Amino acid sequence: MLELLAPAGSMEALRAAVQNGADAVYLGCGAFNARQSAQNFTPQTLMEAVKYCHVRGVAVHLTLNTLVSDREESQVCDLIRHAALSGVDAFIVQDLGVVELCRRIAPGVPVHGSTQMTVHSLAGVRLCAAWGMTRVVLSRELNRDEIAYICQNSPIEIEVFAHGALCMGYSGQCYLSAAIGGRSGNRGRCAQPCRQSYGYGRWENRYPLSLKDNCLIRELKALEAMGVASIKLEGRMKRPEYVATVTATYRKAMNEGGVTRPMMQDLTRAFNRQGFTNGYYTGRIGREMFGIREDHQEPPSWMAAVRQSYEGVENGRVDIKFIANVLADRSSLTVFDPEGRNCTVVGPRPEPARTVALTEDSLKDRLRKTGGTPFNCVEVETVVEPGYTLAAAAINAMRRDVLNQLTALRARRESTPINKPVKVPHYPGPKGAPEITAQVTTREQLTPSLLRLNLGALYVPLHILAGDPGLCRDLASRLPLVAVLPRIVHDDELPRIAAALRAVKALGVREALVGNLGLLIPVREAGLGIRGDFGLNIYNSRAVNLLREMEFKSACLSFEMTLPQIRDVSKGIPCEIISYGRLPLMVTENCLFKNRTGECTCNQGGAKLVDKTGAEFPVIKDGASCRSVLLNGKKLFWLDRQDDLAKLGIWAERLYFTTENPREVDGVIRAFRDHTPFDPGACTRGLYLRGVE
Ligand SMILES: [Zn+2]
Repeated sequence: MLELLAPAGSMEALRAAVQNGADAVYLGCGAFNARQSAQNFTPQTLMEAVKYCHVRGVAVHLTLNTLVSDREESQVCDLIRHAALSGVDAFIVQDLGVVELCRRIAPGVPVHGSTQMTVHSLAGVRLCAAWGMTRVVLSRELNRDEIAYICQNSPIEIEVFAHGALCMGYSGQCYLSAAIGGRSGNRGRCAQPCRQSYGYGRWENRYPLSLKDNCLIRELKALEAMGVASIKLEGRMKRPEYVATVTATYRKAMNEGGVTRPMMQDLTRAFNRQGFTNGYYTGRIGREMFGIREDHQEPPSWMAAVRQSYEGVENGRVDIKFIANVLADRSSLTVFDPEGRNCTVVGPRPEPARTVALTEDSLKDRLRKTGGTPFNCVEVETVVEPGYTLAAAAINAMRRDVLNQLTALRARRESTPINKPVKVPHYPGPKGAPEITAQVTTREQLTPSLLRLNLGALYVPLHILAGDPGLCRDLASRLPLVAVLPRIVHDDELPRIAAALRAVKALGVREALVGNLGLLIPVREAGLGIRGDFGLNIYNSRAVNLLREMEFKSACLSFEMTLPQIRDVSKGIPCEIISYGRLPLMVTENCLFKNRTGECTCNQGGAKLVDKTGAEFPVIKDGASCRSVLLNGKKLFWLDRQDDLAKLGIWAERLYFTTENPREVDGVIRAFRDHTPFDPGACTRGLYLRGVE
């Protein structure tokens, strides 16, 4: 059975979801969830929410899907404990450190890998399974064949987004909001800059980053046949009326197996951005996927009608069975729920009937009146002694009492083991000036002066190394050469990547830089050492320690961390930060070039988006793929502050070259040597000083 998983940004939205047929809801509590601007739940209302849901047969998934700093760890531990004791049915997690905390503190509560983990391949799913997760929420960019392939081979459950807003960038890999205004998408504060207007080259009031809302309502049978466990409706920030409409419509489609025009009209009325798209699912990527929100007012009468589906009503979702005995000397009523729980009440002693005796039919009719309760009576067995009677009020009271008992029983929390988290040992990291590492995007950037630097690592894209064996062999013999893998590699691309890894290994490459969980197993199978890149979003000591346990050679810390956080994080393996370069703010499945002109001109370079303020965002691609990487126009610059970096305990600082030509590369090396002062016109300190919300 496909699970229908609905959003609950508030108690009202929760009721809207439950009363309209959700099998499960997901919600946030306190500070650690990806929708900080939703109303969300407090520890107290979380407990009420879980009871409300469990009584009605609905599971509760708690979103814990943000990156968590070391200082926040004790708070997140409290929340994990409280949520487990409140009876939540699963945690949805992004941060690798938080995965470990959940597994350790509350081993009885399943952990689901959030879409913020950017898992988009079978190898990524397998890794999550190995870490004890029982479900993964796949990246939204996968097509139906890819989803089916993963489902067929996955050892754990797969959840996919079926309806609602789509992010332009792969979730978990978007730093646009953080870079523009310090509001991190990875910390639940996304300000949705992708909904703003941009132009190509100069501002044009176009919307190249605003996708229509996803809608897979016509694909539910196919998704179920593939073995998808759960379909997720997006919308924790949306109104309860929206949640009610979308949940009810999807429930109807699942129950009736079809989609009618009025159902589509309801979805459209609830919310749309110039219609809907299923482009990722069908694999038809392109301009038709894009749209913006147009002003429109829902008719108040329609909104009121929607509210009637959940305000002050009980839609009797839980099927129950009664067994009633009205005998000469006693009466009793027992209720059974679908899970086999049962409760019994004893009623008053029946009296001999003076006029009309109680019949089985009239007793059944009375017991079936469960309206206004969470229960729906589907079966009544009765034994009635002929010639006796029991007052209607007495029967009603028995029915009420036994259902109240059942309600309390269903709301009762199962006991679950709670453990203490294990402390991460503190490793301060090396003292003194960090080594220099350099990453290039093009072959031309490998200038003689760059190669003369005493580099701790030289990161070169895998496709460049594999495509030029002479270059690869030469570099590998002279420098600590590391092959850079694309961050996004779908399953059908993996054989090519694996072959390239084998090829460069034969040419002397010993290590790879990996920014996605899905690539760990393939890199290990190729016999290469692993260095962790920023895409893994390593934000705390526990996550670094996890990489240590997996024998990573090094970790690039999240560039959303502040310098004090970087200084204080436990460095169980050599840690690196990016100190120079245009930070990648987004990686997109859609080719921004192709969406502009109709053909992919990815290789020609020079392309950029420009926002209203004139800020520029150059675009390159992810590895050799046609996926676009949106870069910050202003370069991160710390070359003048070497003294500050020397206090951090980091192994290395990385010069990250993207759009630079060879002359600019050499200029950066001179700037590094001369401690050239910071130019605020072209450069930024990034988030290392101001941090993110
Ligand atoms: Zn392209």
